[in-house]
Amino acid sequence: MRVLALLDGTLVDPEVPLLYADDPGVQRGDGIFETILVVERHPRELGPHLDRLERSARLMDLPLPERAGWQRAVQAVIDAWPWHTAPEMVLKLVCTRGADDSEQAPTGFAMGSEVSAGILRKRAEGVSAVTLERGYDPQLKDRAPWLLLSAKTLSYAVNMAALREADRRGADEVVFTATDGSVLEGPTSNVVLARGRTLLTTPPDSGILAGTTQAALFRAAEQAGWQARVESFPATELFHADGVWLVSSIRLISQVHTLDGIRLKADADLHTELTGLYESQY
Ligand code: PLP
Repeated sequence: MRVLALLDGTLVDPEVPLLYADDPGVQRGDGIFETILVVERHPRELGPHLDRLERSARLMDLPLPERAGWQRAVQAVIDAWPWHTAPEMVLKLVCTRGADDSEQAPTGFAMGSEVSAGILRKRAEGVSAVTLERGYDPQLKDRAPWLLLSAKTLSYAVNMAALREADRRGADEVVFTATDGSVLEGPTSNVVLARGRTLLTTPPDSGILAGTTQAALFRAAEQAGWQARVESFPATELFHADGVWLVSSIRLISQVHTLDGIRLKADADLHTELTGLYESQY
């Protein structure tokens, strides 16, 4: 099931080609996107996702179409989705530069699809992960803005390759590490660890994507009396934590039960508590 809408709010047939063959988004991954969970017609964290789309566009000098267009497209997809048969929808917003000539306006669209079986399994059963080097230091982002660290660009080939490497090593997921051994993020998620009643995640300054799910979880946890800290920590900390999770919009709060082949503390009650805190906001 797929539902596709343009920024003027019109629905288009997802079977019909939409992009130009010379769109730099296709040829070079030169574009941006967001992935949003919609449950029973309610998009989660839509404002923060649209804010991040705008931030990504600014970082790569992409003239982003106005916010109202994205909101129209989101609404059109939500209105057309068969909620009675599929109560959750993965909503992708994509913006490319359009055709490879400066006259062409960017192309934007919103597409709804179903949550995959693989993601449902990760949510329910948790994941095994491996640490993999990402190859940059946590100070690089501000030194080298052309690397677009912290932008959500369409260039996810490296992230997908890392997931295939995890699969080759018999794991479901990846925790990227920086050259100083600190934890960065997953290829499509943020890393959260618990130490007592404190939650910890990596600062966006280190070049990772500022996660909307991590922010929502931390907001709820702080309201419930947890300490929530955003600071760098070494990958070795993961082995001693009271719990480790990979969090993102569609997989939600997935517990990591094994890292580099070593069983982690994966307390089921703690997992239920954090998932409950996150869900209590919606
Ligand atoms: N980091 C990366 C590289 C991602 O691709 C994602 C989401 O896909 C995240 C973190 C988590 O972001 P969010 O919680 O906003 O989905």
